[in-house]
Amino acid sequence: MFSYEVICFSCRKAFRVYEGSKEYERFKKNRNSAFCCEDCHHQIRIEAIKYFFR
Ligand SMILES: [Zn+2]
Repeated sequence: MFSYEVICFSCRKAFRVYEGSKEYERFKKNRNSAFCCEDCHHQIRIEAIKYFFR
């Protein structure tokens, strides 16, 4: 399985995107776009939900 190492725009940690995932497709199309690791993605969703219910 192919994977690439990318840097999370939020926490600046390196993480891997795997072939077949949406992030991988985005990486192939545009290597300079912002990527978000799963932890931050999860965090952002929680924040969005909190904001929504405020
Ligand atoms: Zn992150």
